[in-house]
Amino acid sequence: MDPVLLVHGGAWAIPDDMVDAHLNGVRHAIAAGWQVLNRGGSSLDAVEEAVVIMEDDQTFDAGRGSFLNRDGKVQLDALIMEGATLRAGGVGCVEHLRNPIRAARKILSESPHVYFVAEGAERFAAEHGIALCKNEDLIIPREVERLREFQAHAAEEKPDLFAATLSHDTVGAVALDAKGDIAAATSTGGTLNKAPGRLGDSSLIGCGCYADNKTAAASTTGWGEPIMKLVLAKWAADRVASGSLPEWVAAEAINYLQARVNGHGGMILLDARGRFGIAHNTPRMAWALKTMSEERSGISRQE
Ligand code: ASP
Repeated sequence: MDPVLLVHGGAWAIPDDMVDAHLNGVRHAIAAGWQVLNRGGSSLDAVEEAVVIMEDDQTFDAGRGSFLNRDGKVQLDALIMEGATLRAGGVGCVEHLRNPIRAARKILSESPHVYFVAEGAERFAAEHGIALCKNEDLIIPREVERLREFQAHAAEEKPDLFAATLSHDTVGAVALDAKGDIAAATSTGGTLNKAPGRLGDSSLIGCGCYADNKTAAASTTGWGEPIMKLVLAKWAADRVASGSLPEWVAAEAINYLQARVNGHGGMILLDARGRFGIAHNTPRMAWALKTMSEERSGISRQE
């Protein structure tokens, strides 16, 4: 098969002065993932490496630089899934991991379990050679200020937590490798001012991330609660299996999200034949794509 790699860096009203940072971030992620695919590596390794780049990039709501929860802490969620075997690894509410997707990958590869949360996840990671960090190492001044402003504003009037303009900078990747296997990965700091312990869609299997060679690989971003209610990544993958083109299914999934539960967000979708879709109902979404014949990136559906 000819490899394909598709990544996203969140779907919301990305302001003009943040467009370049988002485009650079998704392009760097493509470069890292493509290196893996180009030397004959697996789609699983490719999505992991692509997501690590975006976790390390403070532009995004993943890894260092993520949104802070109500208590002023970073709490991270991530999932990775392999389409050939349906093996998956997820972590939720971790506070001491720079790259939660690395811990998720260890769970996929080395644990009989699929999902670990909080201290148990961190203990598993440490036992498998992943260094823990301080929560403060994940916090940047921009986010301290953002939370302070949000909370000050929230005291005066009830903010619209679910406005499409509210930032959704979760990151994700889907890939097809030369063996014909697909994989998906999603990583997030969740939503601004979230309650401690709140888990969003991103790391839940079938919600923010899914991969099955027989259907499709999907990664979503956006307001997590509505996406969870529809199990949207699996919903989309199943429609690809019943014969619809990923391009149409991704658009259909986002329409369904809006029509059924008034949700907003975006999705990347790829099947094992290399056909893909990118859709969002937010003003912008950062994405990038690479195949053997083309390399593209964009900040909206129109570009
Ligand atoms: N879906 C994520 C969550 O609700 C947020 C995002 O995509 O930015 O945790």
